[in-house]
Amino acid sequence: MGSQEATGLGGMTNPAYNWHGGGCHCGAVRFDVALPDAFEVEDCNCTMCAMSGNIHVIVPASRFRLVQGKDNLREYTFNTGTARHLFCRTCGIKSFYIPRSNPDGFAVTWRALDDGMDLKVTVVPFDGQHWEENAARLAHKSKD
Ligand SMILES: [Zn+2]
Repeated sequence: MGSQEATGLGGMTNPAYNWHGGGCHCGAVRFDVALPDAFEVEDCNCTMCAMSGNIHVIVPASRFRLVQGKDNLREYTFNTGTARHLFCRTCGIKSFYIPRSNPDGFAVTWRALDDGMDLKVTVVPFDGQHWEENAARLAHKSKD
């Protein structure tokens, strides 16, 4: 399953998706993410997302590519250490990260997309305070 070869190469031609740019506040970290015309974003209430107001869209690794800023990222982990919270060391913004629910994919911060507010999204509450009971319903989101 999946197309590892497509990861990071930007050669994807699937017409169901369009590439959108995004990044951190200072511009050091930039990424592209392939999204359908309409998609769901997760409004999570876990301790981490609640503090930062993080609302994110989960995508397979093949639909995300880091354009620049790899050396500017700093990582924070807690609890199981599975989720890799990646922050720009200059401006502190987490524009994307690797979520515990989908360690094979990426969670892109909705508001870190250049045109995020213009996109057709459905905000879906995710009860991250009861993560173990709810995480399974997110697993398919990082599959190609
Ligand atoms: Zn930054």
